[in-house]
Amino acid sequence: VAMYSSKSEGKGQYRFYDASLHESLKSKAHLKQSLFDAIAEEQFVLYYQPRVDTQTGRLCSMEALVRWIHPKRGLVPPLEFIPLAEATGLIQPLGRLVINMACAQLSAWQARGIPLVPISINVSPSQFSHGEIHCHLAEEIEKAGISASLLEVEITESAMMGDQAEIMAELSAIRDLGIKLHIDDFGTGYSSLSQLQRLKMDVLKVDKAFTSELTNSRDGKVFFQAIVSMAHALGMTVVAEGVETAEQMAMLQSLSCDEVQGYFIARPMPAHDIEPLLARPARYAPLQATRILQGS
Ligand code: C2E
Ligand code: MG
Ligand code: MG
Ligand code: MG
Repeated sequence: VAMYSSKSEGKGQYRFYDASLHESLKSKAHLKQSLFDAIAEEQFVLYYQPRVDTQTGRLCSMEALVRWIHPKRGLVPPLEFIPLAEATGLIQPLGRLVINMACAQLSAWQARGIPLVPISINVSPSQFSHGEIHCHLAEEIEKAGISASLLEVEITESAMMGDQAEIMAELSAIRDLGIKLHIDDFGTGYSSLSQLQRLKMDVLKVDKAFTSELTNSRDGKVFFQAIVSMAHALGMTVVAEGVETAEQMAMLQSLSCDEVQGYFIARPMPAHDIEPLLARPARYAPLQATRILQGS
């Protein structure tokens, strides 16, 4: 460990120079460069995770989850590069690529006569800051020749904590296109009831932390029940994220949670693997959903 004085921190201020920090900054710069190149070369793929009706098991929608096909490391999960993309502004071109890929996929399925359900796309708060995301969505929908109702947009609860006026304007522009809005990871942020009402979100996705609490404690169940009642009172559809067990599934059915998503139903999968689920007559027995959806 060496010491250096940092001008920006004023005279007489010292900080420890940490070799591991230096290494991590270097590798961050390196990672940023490779992410930049990966976007230019479109080294990404969308995985799709089904979201089904809790009572009937009908396939309602599928969430697009991006993966980086790294030439050396293979499939890299989003949590390893989305935060960096957000911090560096690369989320803008990456976000456009994600929208483009989802629209192209819908268009390809449509051309083959495959029955469609909407794809929901995750959008980062920083994608809102230039007020152009609704324009980009509109362009891509038009180019792909698909109905706007085939796209849905998910934003996290914490994303709505930013510049309210700007976010509200952008959200309502997206909604005016005919795209449904989802609050993602609900329960992990601090949105108030009045905010929920003002934002006019269509779907509330309860974070998987609350799904896992469901069967752990009485409080977990009471809490989830309260969310469902509140969402229904505000006219929103409720989705439980991260459903992993039959026990949780049964509980969610008894709580009138509208839709479910999670490993119990199906893991995220490549487009090719989800095709048979689209083509299949749209009803599954929910408690057997895992076996049926994971298929052959
Ligand atoms: P999210 O939007 O909340 O997506 C759900 C995450 O939970 C996904 O992780 C999914 O694979 C995982 N998951 C689904 N079911 C289960 C389950 O039963 N148990 C557990 N433990 N996990 C489950 P993934 O694909 O790693 O994505 C992580 C996060 O990365 C997403 O969380 C989303 O916030 C972000 N993300 C993914 N794709 C994009 C994208 O295209 N753009 C942006 N801005 N963010 C994205
Ligand atoms: Mg999501
Ligand atoms: Mg989520
Ligand atoms: Mg999340």
